Parts: sequence; C-alpha cells; structure tokens
Amino acid sequence: MAGERILLIEDEARIAQFIERALIYEGYRVSVARDGQNGLTIARDNPPDLVVLDWMLPGLDGLEVCKRLRAASDVPILMLTAKDDIKDRVIGLDAGADDYLVKPFSVDELMARVRALFRRSTPTSRPEILRFSDLTLDTGTHRAYRGERAIDLTAKEYELLELFMRNPRQVLTRDVIFDRVWGYDFGGESNIIEVYVRYLRQKTEQDNEPRLVHTVRGVGYVLREEE
Ligand code: CA
Repeated sequence: MAGERILLIEDEARIAQFIERALIYEGYRVSVARDGQNGLTIARDNPPDLVVLDWMLPGLDGLEVCKRLRAASDVPILMLTAKDDIKDRVIGLDAGADDYLVKPFSVDELMARVRALFRRSTPTSRPEILRFSDLTLDTGTHRAYRGERAIDLTAKEYELLELFMRNPRQVLTRDVIFDRVWGYDFGGESNIIEVYVRYLRQKTEQDNEPRLVHTVRGVGYVLREEE
C-alpha cells in the first residue's frame, strides 16, 4: 500500500471516527470533512486519491457534493447511504459515484470496496480503439461512436459498453456483468443491469439503428448483430 490519501466526508462524529480509524489501520492517509462545503474545499486544495462520501449531509447533500467533485476530477467516489432503494442508487451512480455502501456496513465490506475502487482506477493498459459493427469505442478518451455519431456515455455506461465490446458475440451472464462492472454482486434481484442496458440502448439505437445489445432471456446479454 502506497499510503493513498482518502478524503472522508461524513457529519456523524462516531461513524466518521470509526471509518477514519479503520482506513488508517489499513495504511491509508485520511482527511475528514464534516460537511460538503468543507469537503469540496479540501478536495480542491489537496486532491485526494479517493473520496468516501456520506449521502445525508447538512447543507450541501452528498449527491450535490458528488456532482461537484465529479465536475472537477475523476477521483473514485464511494457513497455511503442509509437508502437501500435501487432508484436512489441509480441516481447516485448517475451523479458520478463509482460505488455504494449501505449503512450499516462492516469494516471488511468498506475495505473491500475501497480496494476494488483503487484497483479499477489504476490504468492497466494503453488506449485502444475497439470496434464492433458500426460501434467504435476509444478506451483512451472514453468516447463512443455509432458510425459518425458521437455517443455521450456516463462512466458506468462506458464500462458496460467496453465489457460488451471486449467480448463480442459472447453471452455475458448477469453475474459476470455485476462482477466486472460493479466489482461485486449488487445483490439478489437488483435491476441495475437492466437499467443500464436500457440507457445504453437509448443511446446506441437512435434513428432506428439496429439493436446491438441483445437480451438472452434468463441468462444475460450479448453484443451481436441483429439476426
Ligand atoms: Ca450523515
């Protein structure tokens, strides 16, 4: 561990202290902010390697802080929430959060998510241009195109499309998609994959363009040409 710096934004003193101790014990350097405004100031003055961000904060809430952090940098953001509703999770992911942890959580869970986020944020390979049918994906710039048309993707939509494009014509099970895109099993009957596949289809199928991401009922999804 290289002593990565983690910014923790959490207003509840007991929870903040619990998380701070656990992170320090694992060898991370930790800054703690007790509200969103203070967190944004710290992030600006001394950019962290990762942010652990509570959703429910006085003043600026976690969602707003997340959007502002994301507008300024690509720092991985782990959101803490008491909200266990899938819709809230999707809203948070859309705001630019990379992952979620629902309170109450164990230290082991927290550390697993933090490690997973650090793994994913470490660049592993040189940029490539991936092509399938008339879809193009630039892994350097994260830009996608259908033919000449540029497609604007959120971070998760990009990861999902990259996974499909690296495995064309192969059926990807829900488990594999969870594991590769979200880094863990999102849990039981979550419909988050369906939600994100729907987003991808909306963006890749304008003007009656033929479908490329197909449902394999009861199994998962496959990127292939229409039959
Ligand atoms: Ca709180």
